[in-house]
Amino acid sequence: MPALESTAPARPWRPQPVEPAAPVPSWQAMRRLILWDIDGTLVRCGDISLSVFDSALKAVVGRPPPRRIFMAGKTDPQIVAEYLDLLEIEPGSVDVAVVLGELGRALAAAADDIGHTGVVMPGIEAILTRIDTDPATVQTIVTGNIAPNAAVKLGALGLLRFFDLDTGAFGSDHADRRQLVGIAVARVAARFGRHFAPEEIWVVGDAPNDLVAARAAGARCLLVGTGRIPVADLAALGPDAVLPDLADTDALVELLAS
Ligand SMILES: [Mg+2]
Repeated sequence: MPALESTAPARPWRPQPVEPAAPVPSWQAMRRLILWDIDGTLVRCGDISLSVFDSALKAVVGRPPPRRIFMAGKTDPQIVAEYLDLLEIEPGSVDVAVVLGELGRALAAAADDIGHTGVVMPGIEAILTRIDTDPATVQTIVTGNIAPNAAVKLGALGLLRFFDLDTGAFGSDHADRRQLVGIAVARVAARFGRHFAPEEIWVVGDAPNDLVAARAAGARCLLVGTGRIPVADLAALGPDAVLPDLADTDALVELLAS
C-alpha cells in the first residue's frame, strides 16, 4: 500500500509571537498579607444574608427557624448547627453539608438582588485598588461564608476582581473560624512561594470573632465599626487598631504597612 502523502502545501516556518508572561509579584517584595472579612467589612448584603438560612433550613428540615440568631463573625456551618439546635433537630439526623448546599443555591438565586440592594462600604474600592497595585502587599479573603457564597457576594457587588479566591479561607473549609487564618496563609504560600509570618499579617473584620481568629494565628487585627457592633464595643476588645470605617485610604495604607 503506497504511503499517504500530504496534499497540504508546505508552510514555511515562522517564529510564533510570544505572549509576554503576566507579571508575577516577586515574593521578595512582599511585606504584608491583608485578610479581609466580607460581611460588615467589605459589603453589607442586608436581609438576604439572613433569609437564605431560612430558605435552606426550610428546604431540608421543612420549616424555618423560629427566630434569627446573631450571626456576625460566625461561620456558615456554625450558624447552621446553631439553627438546627434551635429547631430541636436531633444531632446528626440532618447533614450540615446538605443545608450548606441549599444555602449556596439560595444565595446564588439572590445574586441579582444583592447587586441591587447590597452596599459596598465607604472607601473599600479605593483601599482594595491601592493594595491591588502595591507589590509589597497581598490581599485575600478570610470569611465565615462558604466559598461559593463569598464569590456570589463579591461578584454581585463588583469586588471579585480584587481577589484570587483560591488563596482565601472560608466557612466551607472549617466551622471554627480560628482555623481559617492558617488555611489562608498556607494557600497564599502555595500560590506565591512566600510564607507570611504572623507579624506581617493583618486580619480586617467587624466582629469579635475576627479578632479571635487573628489572635489564634498570632496575626494583628483591625476592627471596623461598619458592621453590627458599635465601634466602642470593638475598641474594648483590645484589637491592634479600630476605626469607625475604612474611608481614609491614606491613613489605612499607612496603618496596614506598619
Ligand atoms: Mg463580618
